[in-house]
Amino acid sequence: MKARLTDTAGLGRLLDAFREEGWEVVAPMEGRGRDTFFERVTEANRGAVRWHLPNPATPAKRYVFPPIESLFRMARADGSWEIRPVTGARRRALFGVRSCDLAGLRHLDRFFLGGAYRDGYYAARREALFLVNVVCTDRERDIGDDCFCVCTDTGPAAREGFDLQLMDLGGDRWMVVAGTPAGEARLEGAGFEACTAEAVARRRDVLEAVRGQFRTTTSWFPATVRYVSRGEVLESTWEEIGRRCVECGGCTYVCPACTCFTMTDRRTGPESWERVRLWDACALGGFTRMAGGHNPRRAVHDRRNRRFFRKLAQYFIERELSMACVGCGRCASVCHGDVGMPSVVEMIRRATARNGGGGKEAETP
Ligand code: SF4
Ligand code: SF4
Repeated sequence: MKARLTDTAGLGRLLDAFREEGWEVVAPMEGRGRDTFFERVTEANRGAVRWHLPNPATPAKRYVFPPIESLFRMARADGSWEIRPVTGARRRALFGVRSCDLAGLRHLDRFFLGGAYRDGYYAARREALFLVNVVCTDRERDIGDDCFCVCTDTGPAAREGFDLQLMDLGGDRWMVVAGTPAGEARLEGAGFEACTAEAVARRRDVLEAVRGQFRTTTSWFPATVRYVSRGEVLESTWEEIGRRCVECGGCTYVCPACTCFTMTDRRTGPESWERVRLWDACALGGFTRMAGGHNPRRAVHDRRNRRFFRKLAQYFIERELSMACVGCGRCASVCHGDVGMPSVVEMIRRATARNGGGGKEAETP
């Protein structure tokens, strides 16, 4: 992989070059309070782009798998129907994508593109995307209380999945690494300096230091995966998790690796409709409700455990070659009931191990 050095002004020139070439450029910006959001960069907000900020509150996945999208439009005229698919995607450069969100995108790639069925809508957006990863190196500004990518092996520095990777070496020096031929081509431009052995050593030191600065850590994933996969989690543990859930769906909507969606038709005029795809969430009562009203998973805990089964069971990990949790910690930040991934892993591990595994409740004397 090619690597170069630049300064913060050089990063700005890189971003501006995409805009000048007509790309839509998206980057993290400060929102209200401590929340950060991915925003389209315009003349008006160009000065608000920041390289060190808390991870955006909603993940980058919305740029390949939007919360709601039109699939095709239907219109009736002179007694016959015309159906027009909604296709195409504009070139988009996504700056400031953290390593956890990149891992989320790779998971979505395997789900939407890697199986027997290839999703054309997703593929069009994905092919038009240029990804610029920023490595989290700042203890105060980059790493949130709930981040735990060090436990899911997805960060703080991504090893793949980016076109370019930016890493702050301190002293207004950034290392820029290319991950694809498209990224390499960008390094040919003026303004980049040759990388040095000293900079490579500095990169290693910065990464080593930042790995020890995470406040949330859980080394219990492997045991929890084993318990979930073997069906050894106690029913009382699932019930406890379900009791804490208020069924808001927030954890799913902020998750970079969740893939569930539903479809519906909506009227757009007297004789026209469109079919839309929108995110769905396993926490919501309608998720498993069937035509006729029967719901095989009516109990909250029975639906809630689907999320953790989907993310932690060996079957899914083998099928998709990765766990559907990338350690971003957003579900922990958003949940009213403390049912985020780190605390659920801990609850399952503690309760199941205390009971000796095996899925049977301990007999009370
Ligand atoms: S965010 Fe928490 S309360 Fe809301 S659906 Fe998810 S687990 Fe339940
Ligand atoms: S399950 Fe939670 S921590 Fe894991 S990727 Fe999804 S939102 Fe992030």
